Amino acid sequence: MTEKLLIVVGGGIAGLTAGALLAREGNEVILLEAHSQTGGCAGTFIRDPYVFDVGATQVAGFERGGIHDRIFRHLNCSIPVAEVLDPACIVHLGDGEEPIHLWHDPLKWEEERKKHFPGSELFWKLCNQLHRSNWSFAGSDPILPIQNFWDFKQFLNSTRYMNLMTGFFSMASIADLLWLCSCHHDQRLRKFLDCQLKLYSQGPSDQTAALYGATVLQMAQAPLGLCHLKGSMQKLSDQLLCSFLRDGGKLFLNHKVVGLSKNNDTWQIKINTSKKLSLNLQAKHVVFTLPPQSLLALIPKTTCVLPRNYRNRLENLPQPSGAIVFFGAITRSHLPKYCEGHSQLLVKEIGSIFVSISFEGDGRAPLGQATVTASIFTDVNSWSSYSISEYRHHKDLMMGKILTALNLQFAVNSKQWLHKELATPRSFARWTGRPLGIVGGLGQKPTTFGPFGLSSRTPMKGLWLCGDSIYPGEGTAGVSQSAVMACRQLMFEEGRELNLTK
Ligand SMILES: Cc1cc2nc3c(=O)[nH]c(=O)nc-3n(C[C@H](O)[C@H](O)[C@H](O)COP(=O)(O)OP(=O)(O)OC[C@H]3O[C@@H](n4cnc5c(N)ncnc54)[C@H](O)[C@@H]3O)c2cc1C
Repeated sequence: MTEKLLIVVGGGIAGLTAGALLAREGNEVILLEAHSQTGGCAGTFIRDPYVFDVGATQVAGFERGGIHDRIFRHLNCSIPVAEVLDPACIVHLGDGEEPIHLWHDPLKWEEERKKHFPGSELFWKLCNQLHRSNWSFAGSDPILPIQNFWDFKQFLNSTRYMNLMTGFFSMASIADLLWLCSCHHDQRLRKFLDCQLKLYSQGPSDQTAALYGATVLQMAQAPLGLCHLKGSMQKLSDQLLCSFLRDGGKLFLNHKVVGLSKNNDTWQIKINTSKKLSLNLQAKHVVFTLPPQSLLALIPKTTCVLPRNYRNRLENLPQPSGAIVFFGAITRSHLPKYCEGHSQLLVKEIGSIFVSISFEGDGRAPLGQATVTASIFTDVNSWSSYSISEYRHHKDLMMGKILTALNLQFAVNSKQWLHKELATPRSFARWTGRPLGIVGGLGQKPTTFGPFGLSSRTPMKGLWLCGDSIYPGEGTAGVSQSAVMACRQLMFEEGRELNLTK
């Protein structure tokens, strides 16, 4: 192996993006993926004749200038076919009132929220101002958190006068904005915000950073928008992989990284293959896209490669959530009309359920049928501690609860389901290799988001982090942005600049 080899660990969207960008720069890149396919949480699996999206079902950043659009243009590769969702989501608060439609047209959305949350316009206007400021900042590929002078320079290049003004809100939460705009008494608005924010930040409005929340609350509206991929979510991985391979990158599937160590300036990567072979690779740089908590098991304490305070930091990271996902299929005519797309249901016994129903002819189910995925958040610790019989019992229990909620919502009965299965944190741990099946990064509290989060630049020279625990956070758009950031830092370390076109 040459000294110039770069290794990317993990073939989810973060790893594929990093691999494709680095290969495009003419580097020799190897991508190591433990699974037999790429995609990770944004991949798919097949239960003939159905194709199910494993986790992610809708994508941001496909609009002109959005992060996926910029990356595909940079890679000189066509972007997967996608349709803007309108509405992006229908939110049922379970209070007997009409559901809230997140329309794509900003004016239609304004009318909708005035109808549902009268008197809250000041709050939405403030969110809009913060979001506009955030967006111009994020679009300039800032480096956060800042670790050295180069990072600081990139940060300054991205910062505009408006960002300095909105910086005032960096320690505030969305609940603080509600209070500031005298909307904190509106219980229905609070319920709606808590429900929506949990999807993106892992917490309700009082635990979501204002600067982050203000943006995710406007992802559905033009000029941005949430999209549905034609075919399946796998198309996003496939297209990134195409670019990676075209530019000379090498992908090794079924290659699980089981150890990382360092010899002077060279990283030693220990790998187990599905054929029970043990291999070793050496590289100057490693881009690591797994949750950073995985480093604790991959780098033994005895080797002292992880500085003690960094190990402490990783050990004390906030515990992310896990997910339980129902994967079902049903004859379309059993469902109510116009229910395709995405909805969020607030259900007394289980909280928020995010439901995605495939569109006719979108590649996920035969004509006349639909796939239905429904996900809820859960605590990973309890799932990991169950014995086999307890696990089966709790799995059946959850399946029953989710089915009851879906049957009620769509007026169907249990016998009408053509396919049904449930994934738990244990399934996610197996599928994605994420410790205990944690998903979705570290959350976006005022104390952990952006400038206060974990950096892609680690204290170990040549080891770079990206993925949903790194700025700007979870989602395919977020992890792609984090991959751009890590690759820019890595390339600069090699005396070169990587800049994406706007
Ligand atoms: C239920 C659910 C719903 C979601 N919904 C959405 C949504 O609608 N929209 C959206 O944008 N985002 C959504 N997300 C979040 C989004 O899917 C993730 O943030 C994103 O896909 C994470 O990408 P990643 O590359 O950082 O990590 P991962 O997708 O976890 O990829 C990591 C990869 O590393 C591999 N790997 C693990 N261990 C090893 C090892 N030791 N050696 C080699 N390879 C290894 C894994 O197999 C995997 O392929 C959802 C997530 C979940 C779980």
